[in-house]
Amino acid sequence: MSKKTLVIGGGIAGITAAQKIAQNGGEVILIEKEAELGGNFAKLAFTFPVLGDAKALVAKEIDAVKSAAGVEILTYTTLQSCQGSAGDFTVELKSASGTRSENVAAIIVAAGFHYMEPTAYTEYSYGRSKNVVTSLEFEKMAAENRLPQGKARVVFVHCVGSRDKAKGYRYCSKICCSYSAKHAIMMKKANPQSLNYVFYIDIRALGKGYEEFIRSAMEEYNVRYIRGRVAKVIENEGKLIVRAEDSLIGNPVEVEADLVVLASAMEPPEGSRELAQVLGIATDEYGFFQETEANVRPVNSSKPGIFLAGSCTQPMEIAASVAMGGLAASEALTLIK
Ligand SMILES: Cc1cc2nc3c(=O)[nH]c(=O)nc-3n(C[C@H](O)[C@H](O)[C@H](O)COP(=O)(O)OP(=O)(O)OC[C@H]3O[C@@H](n4cnc5c(N)ncnc54)[C@H](O)[C@@H]3O)c2cc1C
Ligand code: SF4
Repeated sequence: MSKKTLVIGGGIAGITAAQKIAQNGGEVILIEKEAELGGNFAKLAFTFPVLGDAKALVAKEIDAVKSAAGVEILTYTTLQSCQGSAGDFTVELKSASGTRSENVAAIIVAAGFHYMEPTAYTEYSYGRSKNVVTSLEFEKMAAENRLPQGKARVVFVHCVGSRDKAKGYRYCSKICCSYSAKHAIMMKKANPQSLNYVFYIDIRALGKGYEEFIRSAMEEYNVRYIRGRVAKVIENEGKLIVRAEDSLIGNPVEVEADLVVLASAMEPPEGSRELAQVLGIATDEYGFFQETEANVRPVNSSKPGIFLAGSCTQPMEIAASVAMGGLAASEALTLIK
């Protein structure tokens, strides 16, 4: 019987799980549907809460997993079918060169998240104005040194598609308060002349150093935080006008902006329900993979032998994804040994 583990998804959660299993003498097949490993981490410029160099951090982890003995990496590859039970799964892997059958003892699902395109939010002019971008697009602009120059005004909008059952999701995406503060700080560091505004409903920053990080955006980088939901972003002669109500003082506010950045929702990975069906495991009402007992077994799926890691279970930051990857690896090793 095989002692291999199949890891689905080559983001930081899957990379960590694969590394941990290999470090403990196990064998791994790591499949990634895209051309490269790294997932969404590889699309970032910097990381909160310490402004780490995202590209360097993720490159180090990718190099480590690529050179780990016992890890076979298959890119452009997905799972086509899965039969069997814990300790003895037969999986069919599909790539451009055809299909290949493998026997594995355990499976770790680390398929990550998808970043919501806020096209339903026509009131924010996303898709109509090139100066209204998502937070993920802002990361790319920062990495390519394309942030606005001179006395630019930049507005960051929280909770786009999250905490909004009318057009988005009821849940909170958990980390956008922190990464929006990161973006405002990045903006101020890249362009000290810039004026930066954040529109928020309330601040949610649960993690070591996150609260202090957001406070530093306000106090050290003079980011102006305005409590209120943005109602409209309109473009007028090349300038954007952001209209909202300041819910602390109850007055309407209007801010002129050169760039508006929408903190869009983190949603389940594309095809999560189909993947869950192939594996025979449960998803939640949104399509995130469901833990059996979230409190005490956060990496156990509804099927023995299949474990979950990272943001395919709920929105989460890098550190939590790494922690889940490590725990999923230890569960797989326990099963194999
Ligand atoms: C704008 C923005 C800024 C952020 N900034 C920070 C920050 O500063 N600090 C921080 O801690 N976190 C930050 N994050 C969160 C961070 O990106 C995530 O925590 C991290 O990417 C989660 O890693 P993951 O491995 O769970 O998922 P992902 O990074 O999504 O990786 C999943 C991988 O699985 C692959 N995959 C999906 N489905 C399949 C399939 N069926 N078969 C094979 N492969 C598949 C995907 O192609 C992808 O490579 C930010 C997120 C966003 C959107
Ligand atoms: S983390 Fe902050 S910005 Fe993101 S959905 Fe939750 S409250 Fe809104």
